[in-house]
Amino acid sequence: MSFESELKKGRFAVGQCTKCNRVSWPPSESCNNCFGEMVQRPVKEPGTIIECSAIDGKAFAMAEFEGVIRILGSIPEKNLEPGHKVKITRCGFDQTPKFTFALI
Ligand SMILES: [Zn+2]
Repeated sequence: MSFESELKKGRFAVGQCTKCNRVSWPPSESCNNCFGEMVQRPVKEPGTIIECSAIDGKAFAMAEFEGVIRILGSIPEKNLEPGHKVKITRCGFDQTPKFTFALI
């Protein structure tokens, strides 16, 4: 089970160290703090919008989850502001990770 294979199944999993409990981001095989073993678990929602922008009328947001995980995704809503809470409605992997958010 890996970050990429989970994403391909539409599940966004993050790695957490079994020794020091640190969440590893970006994803890695072993803990970047203590080299401990990682377990994969679902990310905790909601996330918070850090930045948002629109390209060709489509909105994108950088959202932060658990205080460390920052991911870029598309979002159908307009009038976004940093600080808005989002959840992940869709994820996948097509050469790079792809995410879709929705405001909650
Ligand atoms: Zn660790």
